[in-house]
Amino acid sequence: MAHVTLPREILPTDGRFGCGPSKIRTEQMIALAGPGAALLGTSHRQAPVKSLVGQVRMGLSDLLRLPSGYEIIVGNGGSTAFWDAASFGLIENRAQNLVFGEFGGKFAAAAAAPWLQAPDVRKADPGSRTTPSPVEGVDVYAWPHNETSTGVSAPVERVRGDEGALTVIDATSAAGGINLRISESDVYYFAPQKNLGSDGGLWFAAVSPAAIERIERIAASGRYIPEFLSLKNALDNSRLNQTLNTPAVATLFLLDKQLEWINGNGGLGWASARTAESSSVLYDWAESVPYATPFVADPADRSPVVVTIDFDETVDAAAVASSLRANDIVDTEPYRKLGRNQLRIATFVSIEPDDVRQLVKCIEYTIDGQRG
Ligand SMILES: *Cc1c(COP(=O)(O)O)cnc(C)c1O
Repeated sequence: MAHVTLPREILPTDGRFGCGPSKIRTEQMIALAGPGAALLGTSHRQAPVKSLVGQVRMGLSDLLRLPSGYEIIVGNGGSTAFWDAASFGLIENRAQNLVFGEFGGKFAAAAAAPWLQAPDVRKADPGSRTTPSPVEGVDVYAWPHNETSTGVSAPVERVRGDEGALTVIDATSAAGGINLRISESDVYYFAPQKNLGSDGGLWFAAVSPAAIERIERIAASGRYIPEFLSLKNALDNSRLNQTLNTPAVATLFLLDKQLEWINGNGGLGWASARTAESSSVLYDWAESVPYATPFVADPADRSPVVVTIDFDETVDAAAVASSLRANDIVDTEPYRKLGRNQLRIATFVSIEPDDVRQLVKCIEYTIDGQRG
């Protein structure tokens, strides 16, 4: 299908609407080339980079309003590495994994490690979600705060009536864009290439005193744990503003600038109001035209940071995404394995709500143009 050329006056100022890696603001890039330049290419074992790590840990503590006793720990390998680290160093015997999309499923697969009992996997069809419930013998309850593959978000609330078990939340695409009470989780882990407007390759986790106790107990138990995946090693190194091996210094710098920006604007309350505004523009539009519908049926489950919109048979969503791409509006394709006639659009905090309004005009213009 022929690409539609969009008129300049309806183009967004920035065409990056992908769900990760996602838009990094120009101000961050300028800062990286300015004050950041002196840090790049210098030792991560010396004071300047260590103090950058300390500043990032502090910025995250402020953002998440950590209660006393909680700590920010950091390691290399992104959220995917964290799943394996958790199966070595956080799950004692058995996890309960809520699976309502690809990412929840990947943690469930990691939690099926041979030294653990098979996880209690609770699956829901894509576009809906499932809830945790207490089960004897389960010591980790795990689910994503925001399932990036489907655009479903789930509340962060502890499982009541199961003393001693940990609540472990994948916040990779939620952290910095959705508000929460962090005291409802023991481990809130994420990578910085989504709302936190940086690059991939690192993982961070806000850990509660109970999680720290668990990490230390399993590490002392004699279980084999590879050093690269050791949460005890990450905990000890993080307290010194260090990582086991070399971190990406540019990623840390960009993250620090994003934290400064979000915290300076009012923190998580401000950020979540902004993502709610942007996502509503898209959901309201999808409900107002005859050929589109929000993929997530229950409005309460609709993500404020990852918007998925289904189209009827009169629209070829793949052709729309590819035509948008030809106009430098990129990464609106749906999650590759979902296989739906859909657009998936990030409304992360870095994305201007007015750019989302422009995007809606661009989508309408493209659809009208393709219909001829
Ligand atoms: C992107 C994403 C991941 C994977 O993160 P990596 O840093 O690429 O390993 C995991 N979980 C969720 C919810 C995500 O959105």
